[in-house]
Amino acid sequence: MSNFLESVSKNFDKAAAHTGLPEGLLNQIKACNSVYQMNFPVKIGNEYRVIEAYRVQHSQHRLPTKGGIRFSQKVNQDEVMALATLMTYKCAIVDVPFGGAKGGVKISPREHTPAQLQKITRRYTAELIRKNFIGPGIDVPAPDYGTGAREMAWILDTYMQFKGGEIDAAGCVTGKPVTQHGIRGRAEATGRGVFYGVREAVSHKDDMKKLGLTPGLAGKTVAVQGLGNVGYHAAQIFQNEGDSKIICIAEYEGAIYNEDGIDVDEIMKHRKKTGSIMDFPGAKNMDQRKQVLEVECDILIPAALENQIRMDNAANVKAKIIAEAANGPVTADAAEYLTNKGVMIIPDMYINAGGVTVSYFEWLKNLSHMRFGRMEKRFNQNTYSNLVGLVERLTGKTIGVKERDLLTRGADEIDLVRSGLEETMITAYNEIREVKKRKKAVEDLRTAAFISALNKISSDYLALGIFP
Ligand code: GLU
Repeated sequence: MSNFLESVSKNFDKAAAHTGLPEGLLNQIKACNSVYQMNFPVKIGNEYRVIEAYRVQHSQHRLPTKGGIRFSQKVNQDEVMALATLMTYKCAIVDVPFGGAKGGVKISPREHTPAQLQKITRRYTAELIRKNFIGPGIDVPAPDYGTGAREMAWILDTYMQFKGGEIDAAGCVTGKPVTQHGIRGRAEATGRGVFYGVREAVSHKDDMKKLGLTPGLAGKTVAVQGLGNVGYHAAQIFQNEGDSKIICIAEYEGAIYNEDGIDVDEIMKHRKKTGSIMDFPGAKNMDQRKQVLEVECDILIPAALENQIRMDNAANVKAKIIAEAANGPVTADAAEYLTNKGVMIIPDMYINAGGVTVSYFEWLKNLSHMRFGRMEKRFNQNTYSNLVGLVERLTGKTIGVKERDLLTRGADEIDLVRSGLEETMITAYNEIREVKKRKKAVEDLRTAAFISALNKISSDYLALGIFP
């Protein structure tokens, strides 16, 4: 078993012991229900390459199952199983009514042209269709490490070629481009969810006191590992909406540091221009990219891959809070060590759940065949406008244009998506925090999050009448 799958299993067992649920039920919840491993040929240049790929459905207690597709040379069955497992708990924690799943294609996207990636993605989708492993009511993929909206558009298009007559076909995949049945705010969703989650965590005075921190995000120092789908948006929102200081950033090519803060928009421009984050004016190049994990900061956001903080480097971590934006960035042993040292770890299955939450909104949009806000936006605008007019008449005063615009605005899709995400992240955090407070023996948020998820999933099973 890989380190990652072992870690997930260890974390599960630790939490399960606190639940008092029957062993048979716990075993059923823990097991991966379906593992589909495939090998298919794709013609690349003049040769046929055999591509290894997976789709794992961890739990079908709710349908469809849901989870991203990863393109990486490191993909293997254990990794996809671990990731699918995390999806089940993630969905339960944020009350998204799906089972967990994950896909993986063992390729290095950097080494392929877009045309080759398209071929591979389409063939992978065809394999999923053939085995009934995809569909709006069966299993709904989404972006993950190495994939994005472009790949999701290819998946949808392939699905439509086979199943064009299905009225809800657009809901077979999420994270699509907005022009192709996607939803506004999905690309930033995981990063924005990380922001809402950490903002909620640092708003609790007592918890911050224990860490020796003041409440609030303003002025907090932040280090970010990975400027991809998740890390980039998180860093940008922490900077622009949280007023935090991004002091260290690491990417594939290396890491940079500036104690006065690195402007996230500027570093993105610099990377676009030069192809690298290195040699950014005002910032220091670091010797190794892994050093990002060891800088002195208030909040560390590992937003790349699993197994980054392990027993061999955990002692060097100086952050007070670790927000696990990636899946599984801290191993179970390292997490235990850091928790004992007083570090607050906000666990992956909660803090990165913003992506799947907005995927849920996208799926609902696809099933309803209508953009959120279309029905009520104008009605609300008119009502608020009348209200402002009434206040003006009654007071004899005039409200300024700027305030009037603010007060009379009807919500667009992006406003509703963000508001739904904010509400979800805040509610889930407080549920987890309550579990931790109630169970005196629980020392960390991950165990509390697991317990919260297990309580919800077990009641689903009990409602099905499978277990007495
Ligand atoms: N890949 C993302 C995750 O790990 C999103 C999954 C989804 O939207 O279905 O949560």
